[in-house]
Amino acid sequence: MARVMRNAVVITMCALALLLFVGRRRFPKVQSSELARNSGLNGEQAKTKEIDMARDFAPKTKLTARHDGWRLILVNCDHPLADDFLDSVTLKAIHGTALKVDERILDDLEQMLGDAKNDGIDLEVYSAYRSFQRQKVLFEQGVKERVSNGMKRDEAEQETATWIARPGSSEHHTGLAVDIATPSHQGLDESFRGTAAYQWLLKNAPKYGFVERYPQGKVGITHINPEPWHYRYIGRDLAPLLEASGLCYEEYFECYLAPIFESTNLSQEI
Ligand SMILES: [Zn+2]
Repeated sequence: MARVMRNAVVITMCALALLLFVGRRRFPKVQSSELARNSGLNGEQAKTKEIDMARDFAPKTKLTARHDGWRLILVNCDHPLADDFLDSVTLKAIHGTALKVDERILDDLEQMLGDAKNDGIDLEVYSAYRSFQRQKVLFEQGVKERVSNGMKRDEAEQETATWIARPGSSEHHTGLAVDIATPSHQGLDESFRGTAAYQWLLKNAPKYGFVERYPQGKVGITHINPEPWHYRYIGRDLAPLLEASGLCYEEYFECYLAPIFESTNLSQEI
């Protein structure tokens, strides 16, 4: 009997050690302090929460850079796309529009738009794939506007970059991002948050694989002001997990997805 008890204790200890090891590996230290800051938890409570999150929000399917890298790619000012990235993407027009997306997300996007319509919500895509050249023009327009208002060039570039991604670091280059509004509220601005269309997206977009990419409260990490209209495809399996975690994509990527790419070069994989 004593031996059974001893074995049970050893097995439990091993399981706990493994859980702590996995939790720590998946969650870099920055995550703990981030959680503590966001939720008012002290260091120990934040650590406990980390382990809960590691269990609850981790991908439930096996992901590999080769098969899933195309939809997991992290694009931001610190991770600009390689010049030859577009050679690996096939674009296809969204039904009834001239706007294009990566053909692999088209079915999910069109199903989302169709199901919204069935719920009485008119969603319209205002922007989808955008070339480097087009992004350059938009960025330059933003800079010029600020310079003409008296800002210095480098200041104007920095300020513009919080609204319009620098060429090469926009998700719109990937064909995985769409700007969505509704015909009764065409402007892509903060007040879109007050519409029924936004409320529908908030509740339903993750089911179709899309997440609100630049949420409120995460500007310090994304370096992009909140954009309730900008949705990024990451897949039907991951979007609900990311949404439930309360993390932004940079955080989720660092916690759960970066290890997949640790030993591989993503731009070569996809
Ligand atoms: Zn956008």
